[in-house]
Amino acid sequence: MDVRNCKSCGRIFNYLSGAPLCPGCLKILEDKFDKVKEFVYKNPNVGISEVAEAGEVSVSQINQWIRDERLSFSENSDIGIDCESCGTTIRTGRFCKSCKNGLTRDLQSAYPTRPAANTYQTTDEKSKMRFLDK
Ligand SMILES: [Zn+2]
Ligand SMILES: [Zn+2]
Repeated sequence: MDVRNCKSCGRIFNYLSGAPLCPGCLKILEDKFDKVKEFVYKNPNVGISEVAEAGEVSVSQINQWIRDERLSFSENSDIGIDCESCGTTIRTGRFCKSCKNGLTRDLQSAYPTRPAANTYQTTDEKSKMRFLDK
């Protein structure tokens, strides 16, 4: 059994997974998340600190929710977090679009590309002509 102290209220509880919070504080945090989500939905252009203030949570908690893709902001919003790969401002998740595409491309280039089928034929034609020239 993994017994821990709740990070928020200090109470001892049986830790399962996720945030190190007791069930009571976890419930409060989920309620705050709903509040934050609604606030962001109604005020898409506010700053991240305002969102944190409105939801009575820390800015790092907001960032965590964004990384988890639970919270996202509109494309024209000023709010953003850094892409973990190139540092570009993104609205949700961990990587920007181009880094995500780059990751997929790297996987694809792992397979060797086969040479074009007519390569051999062309060299064959050339050597034949060279033979005739002689
Ligand atoms: Zn607690
Ligand atoms: Zn990036």
